[in-house]
Amino acid sequence: MKKMAIIGSGLSGLTLGNLLKDRFAITLFEKARSAGGRLATRIAAPYAFDHGAQYFTARTRAFHKFIEPLIKCGLIKQWTARHARIDGNKIIECTDWAIDEPRYVGVPGMNSIARHLAQHLDIKTNTRIVLLNRQKKWRLIDEHDSLYGDFDWVISTLPAPQALTLLPENFAYRTKIKEVSMHGCFALMLGFSKSFPIEFDAAHITHSDISWIAVNSNKPGRGNLFTLMVHSSQRYAEENLTTDRQKVINHLCHQTSQILGHDVSNADLKTVHSWRYANNSNRDTYPPFADHDLKLAACGDWCLGGRVEGAFTSALNLIDALD
Ligand SMILES: Cc1cc2nc3c(=O)[nH]c(=O)nc-3n(C[C@H](O)[C@H](O)[C@H](O)COP(=O)(O)OP(=O)(O)OC[C@H]3O[C@@H](n4cnc5c(N)ncnc54)[C@H](O)[C@@H]3O)c2cc1C
Repeated sequence: MKKMAIIGSGLSGLTLGNLLKDRFAITLFEKARSAGGRLATRIAAPYAFDHGAQYFTARTRAFHKFIEPLIKCGLIKQWTARHARIDGNKIIECTDWAIDEPRYVGVPGMNSIARHLAQHLDIKTNTRIVLLNRQKKWRLIDEHDSLYGDFDWVISTLPAPQALTLLPENFAYRTKIKEVSMHGCFALMLGFSKSFPIEFDAAHITHSDISWIAVNSNKPGRGNLFTLMVHSSQRYAEENLTTDRQKVINHLCHQTSQILGHDVSNADLKTVHSWRYANNSNRDTYPPFADHDLKLAACGDWCLGGRVEGAFTSALNLIDALD
């Protein structure tokens, strides 16, 4: 059986791993401690937060078929949230997601999906690949100079700017991938020993340094502890990537309090995660990037607009392009 290395074990890498495991002997390489990438859950005992992807849609038949077994076993559930659109501090529209297009979440956390998909795969975690080297076949080198090989195919599923640091100059699609720009996001996590009423479970916000507020604990299967998940706007994140984290927390708490009309600065837990590459800046779509001469390929959510379903579809499209 031919050998394939997949770099990254977010949903794109896990999809490839699961759908190709009967055709290739696959090893996934992941710099983090566990699989999942931006399908992430942060445990800050006694609280837990989805600090990456918040929910996802399943608009294509292929993705629906892929997640169906997870829906059946309760690892994915529909989130029937009360949704609001807020402009500045003012609610301008409310929607009931129970009677709208289904939005799904992993249960009890978004990362449950990744844990399930990772079960039967060979994933080398805590392994950051820094160099790809091709003799007759591919060898991968990690940050501690350990060498892994020999692979017939290598697939990168990293965010586009990170993929460019690995893909060699003679990779056929480098110029195309350079077009993709991704932006940052701060994820503010707030845990409370006492709940307070909020008119919505999820809100998209415009004209603010905040782009999203969710009552994380109102998602299905999250337990009883009251938690809020707040995302900064793209602009605020890009302008404050190097700002002292306590200042960022204070500012985002202040903005959140104004929107909610309730002081959240007294939360029992306040912490922030900074995502350098959270989403695409644009919604361009790209065909799969498979270089058959080099036997090197790249995919990821950024090929299809930067969402969970895009990550899955980009992997699926790449599989077709390998034939
Ligand atoms: C704050 C935030 C909110 C979001 N909200 C939503 C939402 O509500 N709905 C939605 O559909 N999508 C949302 N998204 C986007 C969604 O999370 C992504 O589209 C999807 O999870 C991307 O999957 P991926 O496999 O393409 O990339 P990733 O999940 O980024 O996977 C790439 C993996 O590569 C690993 N890696 C990177 N460099 C190396 C290296 N050198 N060596 C080894 N491993 C490496 C990373 O650790 C990571 O695990 C959100 C993302 C963020 C950050």
